[in-house]
Amino acid sequence: MVGSALVRKLQAEGYSNIIIRTSSELDLRNQAAVADFFAQERPDYVFLAAAKVGGILANNTYRAEFLYDNLLIESNIIHSAYQTEVKKLLFLGSSCIYPKMAPQPLKEEYLLSGYLEPTNEPYAIAKITGIKLCEAYRDQYGCDFISAMPTNLYGPNDNYDLNGSHVLPALIRKFHEAKVNDQPFVEVWGTGSPRREFLHADDLADACFFLMEHYNDELFVNVGTGEDVTIRELAELVKETVGFEGELRWNTEKPDGTPRKLMDVSRLHAMGWKHTTELKEGVERTYQDFLANEVLYVE
Ligand code: GDP
Repeated sequence: MVGSALVRKLQAEGYSNIIIRTSSELDLRNQAAVADFFAQERPDYVFLAAAKVGGILANNTYRAEFLYDNLLIESNIIHSAYQTEVKKLLFLGSSCIYPKMAPQPLKEEYLLSGYLEPTNEPYAIAKITGIKLCEAYRDQYGCDFISAMPTNLYGPNDNYDLNGSHVLPALIRKFHEAKVNDQPFVEVWGTGSPRREFLHADDLADACFFLMEHYNDELFVNVGTGEDVTIRELAELVKETVGFEGELRWNTEKPDGTPRKLMDVSRLHAMGWKHTTELKEGVERTYQDFLANEVLYVE
């Protein structure tokens, strides 16, 4: 999802010499394969969007893979970028790097000030390591490696597998299928009270491009909208967008995860960047994209 949004952004800006690889073409966990790729292609600018990602269930189930795969991907790419003298690298992290009980909204300096949310601790530890790798290669070798921490994302090419996906694509699929199949209710996980912030992937790509052009400092930058909603409000919005008329049923056997993770985006705003897609419009566009690509998204 993020990779394809970055490619759309770069193409819209007139770039044609974009080097991309799918995971089946290049296994980023393979150190030798990554080193060969960098030695052959010699990219100038690297957007490190690749990661093993997923929603609350996948993070909590595949804890070893979320840690191991992400550590390998980041280490291999960041080290190869250093060795081949990449001019600039942007590493993408996640808002789950912050302590579970950190004050809200989350300021960049709250990193490592408390315990993490248990359901995604392995992923968060890997992403914190990525930030620290960028900082360490900058400190020791002078590499211009920067990091951005996006909030929860959604958009075209999202993951719609209900066991692996995040909440927003999951709800689009569940409400759509319930409407089409005339089901009386949709099951939503948890209590509905956690709050989440959502950013459209095209806005993230725009912010990444902006930071690649304008930002050169060690401290990572939060990327979000600065606004959040409860999961209950999100569910109502998706229900209305899809046009489902049945009821919501809350499955409290499923975890809530962290109670809130609202980004403080004042540093990014002060630099002159702000998102353009509001949640209501973004969900509408994403539902249209889901309808157009349902056969691809739902196997
Ligand atoms: P998180 O932000 O890392 O917690 O990841 P998710 O996007 O997977 O979950 C966000 C919140 O939405 C959690 O409180 C979930 O319990 C809740 N949620 C409600 N229904 C669903 C669903 O169908 N799928 C997912 N992934 N989360 C859901």
